[in-house]
Amino acid sequence: MKKLVAATGNAHKLSEIREILSGWEIVSQRDAGFTGEVEETGRTFLENARLKARAVCAATGLPSLADDSGLCVDALGGAPGVYSARYSGGGDRENRMLLLKNLQGEEDRTAHFSCGIVVAFPDGTELTAEGETRGRILHEERGENGFGYDSLFWSDDLNKSFAEATAEEKNLVSHRGRALKVLQEKL
Ligand code: IMP
Repeated sequence: MKKLVAATGNAHKLSEIREILSGWEIVSQRDAGFTGEVEETGRTFLENARLKARAVCAATGLPSLADDSGLCVDALGGAPGVYSARYSGGGDRENRMLLLKNLQGEEDRTAHFSCGIVVAFPDGTELTAEGETRGRILHEERGENGFGYDSLFWSDDLNKSFAEATAEEKNLVSHRGRALKVLQEKL
């Protein structure tokens, strides 16, 4: 099977990629010998995904897939967006608490997750794909599954929070699942 390095240190993302992309052997960046950090200086999800995919491809000599994703809240002008992972300066829990605080008293809770994926090939070519999923921000956490903002995100497609959904349910409708399906067609 052809090898594709998943340019992520996030175990949740790695398993989502493995569950959705068939026909490729997905190797983690650590197993491919990449231990570096790539600074996410892009202004869009696709720009950041491209930075990561190119860096890992250059270091490993193998086709490399990177995703960049985040939560965009309408009442916050699209924030936290590309800063989703770094929103509070702390971890996932601190990020969720800051989001709730910034939305206190706000009636418009509509939001979407966005995902940009780039596969960089050693010959310099690349493939890109994007996906989105819509919902709203809950007033308190619901569910135990997933990661990041999942327990605060009510999915319009699933009629439950992402943290109440199984991995299979989430993959069917998630921003990353949708982007990976577009990518699977292009690969
Ligand atoms: P990235 O690793 O730079 O793509 O940062 C993505 C950040 O956005 C994560 O740290 C989470 O905070 C958030 N995020 C992205 N995808 C999801 C998801 O599927 N569920 C919950 N949070 C997510």
